[in-house]
Amino acid sequence: MAEPRRWDLVNTLFLTGTLALALGLVPWRLAVAGLTWTEALVFLVMTFAIGTAISGGYHRLFSHRAYRATWPVRILFLCLGAAAFENSALKWASDHRTHHQHVDTERDPYSIGRGFWSAHWTWVMEAQALPLTGVADLEKDPLVLWQHRNHFLIGAVVATLPLWIGLATGDLLGHLVFGVVLRIVVTHHTTFFINSAAHRFGTRPYTEANTARDNWLLAPLTYGEGYHNFHHQWQWDYRNGARWYQWDSTKWLLNLLAWMGLVGQFRRVSRSTMARARLHMEEQRLGERLVLASPGVARPMRARLGSARLRLDAALHERHEAWSHRKAQWRTRGLAGAEAWREAKAEWRASVALHRAELKRAWTEWRAARLEARSMLVCV
Ligand SMILES: [Zn+2]
Ligand SMILES: [Zn+2]
Repeated sequence: MAEPRRWDLVNTLFLTGTLALALGLVPWRLAVAGLTWTEALVFLVMTFAIGTAISGGYHRLFSHRAYRATWPVRILFLCLGAAAFENSALKWASDHRTHHQHVDTERDPYSIGRGFWSAHWTWVMEAQALPLTGVADLEKDPLVLWQHRNHFLIGAVVATLPLWIGLATGDLLGHLVFGVVLRIVVTHHTTFFINSAAHRFGTRPYTEANTARDNWLLAPLTYGEGYHNFHHQWQWDYRNGARWYQWDSTKWLLNLLAWMGLVGQFRRVSRSTMARARLHMEEQRLGERLVLASPGVARPMRARLGSARLRLDAALHERHEAWSHRKAQWRTRGLAGAEAWREAKAEWRASVALHRAELKRAWTEWRAARLEARSMLVCV
């Protein structure tokens, strides 16, 4: 028989209490006093700053070591992140690394297998003493340890900053309702949606080995963390929305900080590796559907898909090689003479143009084969 649930009283009261307060106070305040522009601005700035500290700091920097940051950035992310009231960066990273390592299993602290609301927030309310694991690297960082010991106090100081603005503008209550209470609730649930909704709703373009999904709708609400299928496949990448058109405000901010020299050494997966993973998934899905077709239809279609896939795979591989070749040339540029370098550059340009054209042809062929396979499957 399963053990009865035991509740962590402090966590349960804090999570449900702040939500109940927000649900009661926000409509009441809007009805009696409306919303001033300072209240709205303070709410937006606090929400964005603290949410980004969770996404860029707790998650991508401390949990995944996806890039390096200078100490002012680390302090800023630790202080702002504490105001999310999602425990210390050390504990958060420990739980999160366990989530990645044991995703969807019994050992996953917020496994979607235990239900949507369990993954969303009841796992936080349950009294389960999860020990610190797999964070020996972070335990050597004095800043992380300082925040671990004092996170509640730091969080309380940062989270109540709007009250000072409220005092200065003579609008203490409005800033308490929107800048403190509502902000805490919004921060909590935007993080929680990654563990619940991004493991339930969306697409799986790169892997079906776990339940993580890409969800473009969640991305703007979660500072770019909505592309969770990509993230589970390449968790060490500093981006979550890796394509230029995918919303990832954390990535954009990190790019800006890198330009200012405050962060660097970004880790990223190559575009050709991403494209190959996507290709593999598409072929697998079509292959599964072809099982339903008659052998007379399935056999030639499978052969056509296979050859289109091989051609595309080769083109992607060659393109990747061309990039590596270019990098090597850049490295030896100083050693070669100017004339030799100019020749090498022209040669490289020609080879890139060739690879690009080949890649384009291969993609076109793959799309045609895929379209044909799909339309045949509709007919059978
Ligand atoms: Zn996940
Ligand atoms: Zn992660």
